[in-house]
Amino acid sequence: MNRATILEWLRENDTARLQALWQQADALRREEVGNAVHLRGLIEFSNCCVRQCTYCGLRAGNTELPRYRLSAEQILECAHQTVALGYGTVVLQSGEDPELDPTWMYRVIDRIKQETNLAITLSLGERSVAELESWRQAGADRYLLRFETSNPTLFRRIHPPAKGKDCDRLLLLSTLRELGYEVGSGVMIGVPGQSYDDLASDLLLFAQIDLDMIGVGPYIAHPQTPLGREPARFPFPTEDQVPNTEEMTYKVIALTRLLCPQANIPSTTALATINPVNGREKGLQRGANVVMPNVTPNEERLAYEIYPNKACVRDAAAKCKSCLQKRITGLGRTIGKGPGSSPNFQIRTFST
Ligand code: SAH
Repeated sequence: MNRATILEWLRENDTARLQALWQQADALRREEVGNAVHLRGLIEFSNCCVRQCTYCGLRAGNTELPRYRLSAEQILECAHQTVALGYGTVVLQSGEDPELDPTWMYRVIDRIKQETNLAITLSLGERSVAELESWRQAGADRYLLRFETSNPTLFRRIHPPAKGKDCDRLLLLSTLRELGYEVGSGVMIGVPGQSYDDLASDLLLFAQIDLDMIGVGPYIAHPQTPLGREPARFPFPTEDQVPNTEEMTYKVIALTRLLCPQANIPSTTALATINPVNGREKGLQRGANVVMPNVTPNEERLAYEIYPNKACVRDAAAKCKSCLQKRITGLGRTIGKGPGSSPNFQIRTFST
């Protein structure tokens, strides 16, 4: 699929034609990754962050947010709960926490690997190559790092560089690949200043860098962030601005499936937040094959506020499991068993 076709789809408003896009993506999903929906237990273990991303509620400048950091014991407890719930993967996510000691992290990963048979996904932001290498040695299997936007000017505007180090997320993604991680990335949809052309470039880049996992979700304004408070500070010609809507999210999920047939694609919490009734299901019917239910203790979960009113934020982990199970089987799909690596990763790993 070329840029012109992608742009046509992104601007398509005809319901019947969009229906055909949803069907095409759903059929390809079934063919390439099957009917199983893989569940990943998400542990948001620290909301401490040094960065100043203008979209994210965890940004250091948000002084109204109570900060927390789970202990190793608490993380292990969540990991065991993940096993008990029958999920095959645990995702350890945090802000860019300066106090996160690499050796402590190594031990946490090592203990999860010793005590469970879970696959481990890390999502800890921009870390040094030495850290990433050591955590891989400890047994971490996957790493999630969204490049957020392929437009470098927009990226710098929404994601100011850390003091004294300019990080290239694309370079980091290729390093992660070299270290043997299964690599995930993605973007926000409709962030102020994102044009249709930018979004088309994002989609083409997913395929070009051959990602194993691709997470996309609508941008949701957070009132305690510069972008949420004053979107007008990021002016852009309105006819070129991508809307942060549900429909645009489905278009991006469907096109991602068509461009990256063998990748794992989650139906994200941000999508479920803008349509709590059946956003997640619709994502799963338009190309997605993964869901990441939250297993963070409820008290801390409330404070992991990257955007407000996050879906399922007050539900206990066990309730999320039964609710998701109903929703997934209701679609005629099954719950995935085992680690659920993407066929893309499996083929690459076994053929080298
Ligand atoms: N510190 C890690 C994890 C960040 S949270 C990192 O930087 O990679 C995971 C994702 O949530 C981010 O990559 C971003 O795409 C998304 N996110 C953050 N704020 C958001 C918002 N206001 N609306 C929608 N998505 C958001």
